[in-house]
Amino acid sequence: MDIQNGFVGTVGNTPLIRLNSFSEETGCEILGKAEFLNPGGSVKDRAALYIIEDAEAQGHLKPGGTVVEGTAGNTGIGLTHICNAKGYKCLIIIPETQSQEKMDTLRTLGAEVRPVPAVPYRDPNNYVKLSGRLAEEMDNAIWANQFDNLANRRAHYETTAPEIWAQTEGKIDAWVSATGTGGTYAGAAMFFKEKNPQVKCVVADPMGSGLYSYVKTGKIDTSGSSITEGIGNSRITANMDGAPIDDAIQIDDTEALRVIYQLLRQDGLFMGGSVGINVGAAVALAKKLGPGHTIVTVLCDSGSRYQSRLYNPDWLAAKGLSL
Ligand code: PMP
Repeated sequence: MDIQNGFVGTVGNTPLIRLNSFSEETGCEILGKAEFLNPGGSVKDRAALYIIEDAEAQGHLKPGGTVVEGTAGNTGIGLTHICNAKGYKCLIIIPETQSQEKMDTLRTLGAEVRPVPAVPYRDPNNYVKLSGRLAEEMDNAIWANQFDNLANRRAHYETTAPEIWAQTEGKIDAWVSATGTGGTYAGAAMFFKEKNPQVKCVVADPMGSGLYSYVKTGKIDTSGSSITEGIGNSRITANMDGAPIDDAIQIDDTEALRVIYQLLRQDGLFMGGSVGINVGAAVALAKKLGPGHTIVTVLCDSGSRYQSRLYNPDWLAAKGLSL
């Protein structure tokens, strides 16, 4: 028999998909880890599960407790599913700039959702800092703290990366991923480098995120902006701290959109915006390395979370973007 134990048992073990149109175009094997097939619909189910089970193991999270988190949406969705399955409550603080689809999903799942103005990290009312303060003020509550809680990257070190290693039989030339908390990128990069120091680890960065300039110059420059959600950062999180980085590639929104529409129309894959950054960077790296290399990236979530935005010509036009 092959039966998984509830929601929790279904997280992970996602397929690795050859992205045919881009592989044929570049002569490289461009492979996407299908994280949108997790039961909560995104790569963040893994981090959410590790964070909750770590808090349980340490005795911080007790029956009937509340998990509080500041999240762009996907972590909140993963946490809420797991809280439902394990008998906890979930309070989500989300910047009001995030898509309606993610807010609606969180409410439908049963999280208490508090949208707050999107202000920079240095502001005390930033959604991440606010979620930490609220957790502290509540009884029997924990702060998931995905940005600086190392249980996040451990999820990818212990599950995502070993799965990719097994699926490719260790034949990987490069690992490319955008970073939000950095958990996915860092956990996998650490695992791959331990297995084979020749695996090139490359950060993919949207415009307006500081990682690209940090890798290239040592300074964080956040000028510019992106319509992608859930990725980009203005600081080095604890999850990113110490992660091996060989290079960084910056991808703009025009290229990210071109990529997700090609994935939809030529590969039949309906993907979110961060996938456009990831696959765009994988394609740029393939061109740099030349044919014959195997490049692995992440298919973080599905386009259905962004239908009113990335797949809405009126919304794109209002942003000055077209296809
Ligand atoms: N893509 C999407 C759509 C996300 O929601 C996130 C998480 N915020 C990421 C990518 C980045 O993942 P991580 O936090 O592991 O860096």
